[in-house]
Amino acid sequence: MDRRDLIAAFGPDLEIESFDENTMTATMRVPALAGAGSENITDKAGSENISEDEDSLERVPIKYEVCDTCEGKGAHVSASIDAHGITQSEWAEWDQEERESYRSGGYDTTCVECHGKRIVPEIDWENLEGRNAELSKRVRDHLEAQYEDRRAQAHEIEMGY
Ligand SMILES: [Zn+2]
Repeated sequence: MDRRDLIAAFGPDLEIESFDENTMTATMRVPALAGAGSENITDKAGSENISEDEDSLERVPIKYEVCDTCEGKGAHVSASIDAHGITQSEWAEWDQEERESYRSGGYDTTCVECHGKRIVPEIDWENLEGRNAELSKRVRDHLEAQYEDRRAQAHEIEMGY
């Protein structure tokens, strides 16, 4: 899979290194558990300390889900047409041809999320949890931290910092 496809499928912030469609596993970079929990991690050999902020490459199970954005249709009406819904007055302004075009999907564009595939790869949390609860928690924490970062950044941009 191409890097661009990975970004399209998983989003730019998910640090997916590779995705193997045959085994349905992705390899991603996950930081080690940081904070209070890491104190409890002791190296079994008892020799070296485990670094708190060392990333590791982990394999996570992936499954396909029906795309939320287009609800599995592979296409949706272009956001520029009805992002805020179509008001009665707008509808009234359209001529017959435009209305027909809307109804028949003439304004549809390929889905921005699944790119027409109707399905999107998602982390198979249940499977991951069952296989490796600790890794599941690390991945979840990692994604939540990234989500918070993105929100903070968006907020800063909005506030004009
Ligand atoms: Zn879609």
